[in-house]
Amino acid sequence: MYLETHDVVKQYANHLALNKVSISVPKGTVFGLLGPNGAGKTTLIRIITRITAPDSGDVMIEGRQSVGNDIYNIGYMPEERGLYKKMKVGEQAMYLAQLRGMSKKQAHHELMVWFKRFDIMDWYNRKVEELSKGMQQKVQFISTVIHDPDLLIFDEPFSGFDPVNTDIVKNEMLRLKDEGKTIILSTHNMESVEELCDNIALINKSQVVLQGNVFKIRKDH
Ligand code: ADP
Ligand code: ADP
Repeated sequence: MYLETHDVVKQYANHLALNKVSISVPKGTVFGLLGPNGAGKTTLIRIITRITAPDSGDVMIEGRQSVGNDIYNIGYMPEERGLYKKMKVGEQAMYLAQLRGMSKKQAHHELMVWFKRFDIMDWYNRKVEELSKGMQQKVQFISTVIHDPDLLIFDEPFSGFDPVNTDIVKNEMLRLKDEGKTIILSTHNMESVEELCDNIALINKSQVVLQGNVFKIRKDH
């Protein structure tokens, strides 16, 4: 899907977190959201996913104002990720898939596809607490993409991964992009930005200070 924000403003008690932020994310591309801690990236993502309401400004999906049902068409992997530690991995993933609107049958089918794809079938009956941080992150990744949303948003998705798993997940992102998914990637990992992103927005002190095609920006700066 094609996503835009128009002049989004968000004020917390005494802090202007977003000051007229407009981004434009073309369909079937990877869009990098860059900037220092505290810049406003997570706030912008939370507004796009409708977790937080903006004070003013619009989120436009396919050129029309975003509505409640759109959340089922967005997959969001937040930076602070939580799985229920005592649940089995398969049960947890099934639960999350059903929360995202899938039937039990659909969820099970897609889970099998993804667990095979990541070669983690043997994790299915293990408890979440037995998995390393990186392993849990893979389960979170699957839970984010399993319901086949058109817009995927990843906040620091590589932070718990070793280089091998980082590459595996990067390749999955590129495959999803080739399928036509639109991806927003918030990260400090510049290598992944170079490898994955078509366009970027640099946010600093609540404002977009630079936006455009990665190669053009690199040529011009
Ligand atoms: P990030 O890791 O993206 O910088 P933060 O650590 O700023 O995120 O925020 C983590 C969580 O705490 C978010 O859910 C955010 O909304 C909330 N939060 C951050 N700063 C404040 C604050 N000053 N008051 C209340 N909640 C906050
Ligand atoms: P980033 O993701 O770029 O690190 P955030 O969007 O998490 O930035 O935060 C932007 C600013 O807004 C930070 O100064 C943060 O402390 C503040 N902030 C975030 N969430 C809240 C909140 N719920 N209440 C108050 N301040 C917040």
